[in-house]
Amino acid sequence: MTIINEIKQRTDITEVIAEYIPLQKAGRNLKALCPFHSEKHPSFFVFPEQQTWHCFGACGTGGDVFSFIMKKEGVDFGQALQLLARRAGITLSSPAVSREVEDKKKDRLYQINETATEYYHHLLLTTKTGELARGYLTKRKIMPETIKEFRLGFSPDSWEAAKNYLMNKGYEEKELIEAGLLIEKEGGGSYDRFRGRLMFPICDIQGRVTGLGARALDNSLPKYTNSPQTSIFDKSSNLYGIDNAKTAIRKKNQLIIVEGYMDVLTAHQHGWQNVVASMGTSLTEKQVALIKSLTKNISLALDADAAGEEATLRGAQILTQSLDRKAGPALSWSQELARSLHKGKTPDLSPSLAGLVKYQSILDAEIKVITLPEGEGKDPDEIIAENPTLWQNLVEQAAPLLDFTFEAIINKLDVNKAKDKSLAAQRLLPLICEINDPVQQDHYLRKLAHILQVSESSLITASKKLQLSKRKQQSVGATEQAPPLCRPLSNPIEEYCLALLLQYSELHSVAQEPSAEYFECTENREIFLKWQNSPDIAVLRSKLDTEILEHLDYLLAKTFPPAIQENGETRQLALTDCILRLQERLSRESEARREIVLNLAREKEGMEAELIKQEEQGTKFSQQLKEIFIKQGRPRRGGE
Ligand SMILES: [Zn+2]
Repeated sequence: MTIINEIKQRTDITEVIAEYIPLQKAGRNLKALCPFHSEKHPSFFVFPEQQTWHCFGACGTGGDVFSFIMKKEGVDFGQALQLLARRAGITLSSPAVSREVEDKKKDRLYQINETATEYYHHLLLTTKTGELARGYLTKRKIMPETIKEFRLGFSPDSWEAAKNYLMNKGYEEKELIEAGLLIEKEGGGSYDRFRGRLMFPICDIQGRVTGLGARALDNSLPKYTNSPQTSIFDKSSNLYGIDNAKTAIRKKNQLIIVEGYMDVLTAHQHGWQNVVASMGTSLTEKQVALIKSLTKNISLALDADAAGEEATLRGAQILTQSLDRKAGPALSWSQELARSLHKGKTPDLSPSLAGLVKYQSILDAEIKVITLPEGEGKDPDEIIAENPTLWQNLVEQAAPLLDFTFEAIINKLDVNKAKDKSLAAQRLLPLICEINDPVQQDHYLRKLAHILQVSESSLITASKKLQLSKRKQQSVGATEQAPPLCRPLSNPIEEYCLALLLQYSELHSVAQEPSAEYFECTENREIFLKWQNSPDIAVLRSKLDTEILEHLDYLLAKTFPPAIQENGETRQLALTDCILRLQERLSRESEARREIVLNLAREKEGMEAELIKQEEQGTKFSQQLKEIFIKQGRPRRGGE
């Protein structure tokens, strides 16, 4: 997650604004006297659901929490960011001044990794020392084209070979340590980190080498190792092979996640170019952020053993939480039940599992689990190489997440026993309750009834009982948990539009350009405004704050469908479409706003009428009050 999104996630606009001005409830929203112009009736509104504000009075403007702070404190975006970061308890990594230094450092690290990749690759392909690794790859049936495509390499079994080579190339020892290629000795000096290993360059989605993975070719432990975390390498935020896979993922509209480097190589070699590997046992949120822009059809093919299953589930959970959620319909009885079930401790039920099924059901994504044949200890790469048809079938027969979960739970129980029957119901019913789609919900309810050989109505009764006991538990139990934060972090159309403009410089000269007011997210607006006056990305970069650069990189890394990549006309059409949609949004919003203003006027009228009425009726009372005030020596405030 970018710093900007993290700040948004941890900041509630109503809390921030309430620190400056008193807010009153106005239906689902809040209103106040505008802090930016002088007025008698509140026309300043805060919309908690959108995390935005708007003044319907003299200002006629609005925005998000950043723009509020910028306006109220009279600061620029960078300063607003500092302020809100401090408030949210987030430490910003570097002050804006050192940005250039940081960038240069990063560029240098990319260069070092690139040089090392070429060096190792060369050793693997052409030298006698590389024979060991070549032999291993031949044994694993990896073809020369694949070796070249993935730029595999070999690190010689030496303490100083890479060090000497790279230092001869002009890199300093300190830099090489920082890049993770050398390990610093305690008493001073350094030595090669990777020795006698098969090397796998790990690239980001843009194809820059961010780090290296390495496999031992003898019995050395650990079998696999990789670059340490650096300012450009974070194992948990990347997927191995993503740069080579991105086009195929888009084309096939499907992504398969495996566990190992070798699985990816074999898969690509056999025509499965949409395969990537998670470099660890479970998926992380950052990895999912990468996938999200490519496809929503995701299949997980991890180990079949218990640990693998666990990892799959954990991975799936992160997936479902991170993908965009569609707004779900109103809560049904079952969701209500599920909700109550998942508050607090739920014995015998993994709340995360319930959560993931729930998320999937309201996600615009299809998550499947590829189950590998058990007991044979076969990895995907062995299956793909030895039996491509079996692999094809496994992918096609991948089980939807909920079916997989059903099996995982039922398999551990003896559903002929009454006790296990109710246990299975206890564990699975809440999951079924999480499904939004009534048809699907009905399908799984029938399925469960069928497996357990009980009637559906008894399951429904059981659910209600579960709900009741849970409610009782709750009323006795601890304090209510706050609902999870779900604040709008980004705007997809804004981002799409901006990414198009940034990535295709020819669009700079297109006659119709979006207007800055189309961008409601301050970070998008900032980038757009600075982009308008920048001849190229390098200049734009130099104009932006460090924290916003992360967002810029994210936009630059967004990949477009082939039609857009290849055809200038399609690009222009896409841009025009975006602009129209942003325009539409703006006018839709202004319509909603008009309504609020109308209500405001009516309210005002009503208030005035009420005042007149009160004045008429209350002259006597007001006279009495006046007398009291005079007696107490306090002047009475003039009525409105
Ligand atoms: Zn105003």
